[in-house]
Amino acid sequence: MAAVSTRWRNAATGDRTRERSNALNQLLLAAVVLVAVLLVLVTEQPADVGELLAGVVAVFLITGAALAVPWNQLPPAWSAVLPIADIVAILLLREASPASGFALLWVFPATWLASSFALPGLIVGSVSVSLIYWMTRGSDPDQSFGSVAFLVPLTIVAVSTAAYLLSRRAAAQRSLLDKQARLLARTVERVQRQEDVVTEVLDAVDFGVIRIAADGTLAVTNEAHARLQQAAVAGRDARGASPRAVYASDGITPLEPPDEPLARARVGEAFEGELVWYGAPGERRRALSITSRRLHDGLGADVGGIVVSRDVTAEVTAMRARDDLVASVSHELRTPLTSILGYIELVLDDEDLSASARRQLGIAERNATRLLDIVADILAGSSDPRAAVELSVNASEESLDGVVRAAVESAAPRAAERRITIDASGVEPTIAYIDPHRIRQVVDNLLSNAVKYGHDGGSVAVGVTSDVDHAWLVVRDDGPGISPDELPRLFERFFRSDAVRNTSTHGSGLGLGISRDIVRSHGGDITVQSTLGEGSTFIARLPRRAPRREA
Ligand code: ADP
Repeated sequence: MAAVSTRWRNAATGDRTRERSNALNQLLLAAVVLVAVLLVLVTEQPADVGELLAGVVAVFLITGAALAVPWNQLPPAWSAVLPIADIVAILLLREASPASGFALLWVFPATWLASSFALPGLIVGSVSVSLIYWMTRGSDPDQSFGSVAFLVPLTIVAVSTAAYLLSRRAAAQRSLLDKQARLLARTVERVQRQEDVVTEVLDAVDFGVIRIAADGTLAVTNEAHARLQQAAVAGRDARGASPRAVYASDGITPLEPPDEPLARARVGEAFEGELVWYGAPGERRRALSITSRRLHDGLGADVGGIVVSRDVTAEVTAMRARDDLVASVSHELRTPLTSILGYIELVLDDEDLSASARRQLGIAERNATRLLDIVADILAGSSDPRAAVELSVNASEESLDGVVRAAVESAAPRAAERRITIDASGVEPTIAYIDPHRIRQVVDNLLSNAVKYGHDGGSVAVGVTSDVDHAWLVVRDDGPGISPDELPRLFERFFRSDAVRNTSTHGSGLGLGISRDIVRSHGGDITVQSTLGEGSTFIARLPRRAPRREA
């Protein structure tokens, strides 16, 4: 039933397979008949020329029908009419000239039936041909019922069976191919669907994604990228005369086209979170954070890259606004505080001051000084250029161990309050190229953190040593340590770990950031190693000598 409906569908969709195979089978038979009849006419005296011609005409009429009838629009079984009619036409030929061996021509309609109409076709063809052959043997000159009587039907049955088996195998192969084609079509459809989903997801996110092929061409870009790109182009247009619209993270240094992040990513560079500005200063502009990563195949070969860009204009603007606020508030606080401290000092100079008033004023002075220190820290921690002045470094070759010993001495009372011992036995005499005032700030901060966050009764070890080019300062404590996920953020401004944020231990989260700025402005660096629950080690590297200037 399914096969029938498929064929009908084929007819509707213009499949002409059946018409073609009918025509081919019939034309082949007609050609053979034509040749055979001509040969008989030339070489023999046929018994009945009229019947012979009738047979030929019949074959040609059937051929005409095979060519003219639109077989694909008829039910498939109707095509069987043609080979059956051929059997009858061949019967006419055989009757006309029994000795000419026309019986062999039955092999054509019999194989046709067997190959086109499966088992029923094989049975109908073989049985009908064999029966007709035997029934009409009476007119055969050879009346003996010997092996010849079976040879023709047997040959026809054998050839038909072979045709039937061949057609079955061909059908099986065709159905296998169909199945594979359907499977392939489904797989292609699935891949297409997955691609659509990926595209939808990429288009739904609000960051730009670009896939760069191995040769540097852009293979895939999502909608967000197109939007960001449009903003960039809008920025470019707004600038009009100037050819460049991309600026470095400071927002004022224009980038040459080859230095633009996308251009660098296209030539194979990888970078993380690079900040660039699209649009000139003073105009509506966008800040993009751009990351470029390389992609590798299973064998490690470079197969291109991915560039992700995120609009961080709001974040960057907010951070700048915060810095501005912090800087201006701190500046505003400093003036009155300095005045308060001055007046307290004046009052303390008064010798008639009672002991208790002097003590209370002492407390007020200490707290005011602390407040001033905090304001100075906040100023130094802000990225405001006005604060940068605070970090000016005035370096010369100085005794680093002297600075460290003085800092240990002044930290000792606070450590003693908490029964924390400070071991300075690792401090070796070391000359370094430093600003002693600034480095004292660093050591004070590291020591005060070690004491502040350390356990009561714990210990802190301080060391100073040097190699050919560098002096090393090490401050180690056995305090709570810092968790691995917080370590990378430790030197960020205003960062305080979760563990201390909700405790009474005071702090602004600025000390380490400022310490690192100071050490870096000396040409050194500061690092930390820590294991949660076991303690932390801060290591500062400082230069031993003034940097050599190029002539
Ligand atoms: P503050 O001490 O004012 O909070 P810092 O910048 O000096 O600011 O330190 C930042 C954070 O790093 C601290 O809040 C604390 O969580 C952590 N930290 C610093 N030093 C140590 C230390 N020695 N042991 C454990 N945690 C520390």
